[in-house]
Amino acid sequence: MLEAKNIHFCINNKPIVDQVSIHLKPGEMTVLLGPNGAGKSTLFRLLSGELLCKQGMVRYNGLPISGLKPKELAHLRAVMPQHSTMTFPFQVIEVVMLGLMLSKKKYPSNTVEEVMKATHTWELKNQLYGNLSGGEKQRVQLARVLCQIWEIKSFPRYLLLDEPTSSMDIAQQHHILEIIGQLKHRNIGILAILHDLNLAANYADNAVLLKNGTVIKQGPIREVMTAENLQRNFDYPIHVETDGPAAPIYVSSLAPNKKSSYTTNFKFA
Ligand code: ADP
Ligand code: MG
Repeated sequence: MLEAKNIHFCINNKPIVDQVSIHLKPGEMTVLLGPNGAGKSTLFRLLSGELLCKQGMVRYNGLPISGLKPKELAHLRAVMPQHSTMTFPFQVIEVVMLGLMLSKKKYPSNTVEEVMKATHTWELKNQLYGNLSGGEKQRVQLARVLCQIWEIKSFPRYLLLDEPTSSMDIAQQHHILEIIGQLKHRNIGILAILHDLNLAANYADNAVLLKNGTVIKQGPIREVMTAENLQRNFDYPIHVETDGPAAPIYVSSLAPNKKSSYTTNFKFA
């Protein structure tokens, strides 16, 4: 399990992440939701080890993160940050292969091809990364990260994704979330920051709602992603509809001046 207990992080004495406790189980996908500036990326960076928290504890499979060497951590988790910059004129395949750099032994030679075909990046392999569209770049970055954890291992591992599909078209978003979801069967726990509430509701098992650095709700999707909780989280009227426990969930919102047949208690300030 990936566990954070009472983690706290301040910038200029202002708490950005305020006494947060969350856990991520292998075989489950958790989405981290919240408005801009809620502290999602900061919490993500504390969980990934990019930022060190002075208060609280992050543990990977029971091991405190502070005691793990970068290489050990790289075997336990793969991270796709919100923004990745490449300063060299790399070819796409070279970017993807960076994901194998920390591997202890020689990887099966088909890992790169398998991952690139799965992420629809194989056909881009000889192009210059810098010339790709935003959505293509995201797929290449995801392929790089997936290479790191593609090989099946006996111990639980974690995949941390900060807005991995934000620049993708709708078909690619679904395709990529399907692939990410399949990693659950490889004893991998997934944490994804997503802004699309429909994708979050229909692909994840659990949700964490973050506001002003604090967790306001966490738990199974259908308990957490209610209209009331989401309205409170985003300060905006949100409607949630479903036909039953196994049916899809539809999350929608309207422009404030549009009439809606939905009943909501939400009032604009
Ligand atoms: P989110 O990912 O939820 O949009 P972030 O974690 O990126 O939010 O940021 C949370 C808050 O912390 C924001 O108000 C942001 O401006 C502030 N913040 C984040 N990093 C820094 C920094 N290095 N210096 C100053 N303020 C920061
Ligand atoms: Mg962010």
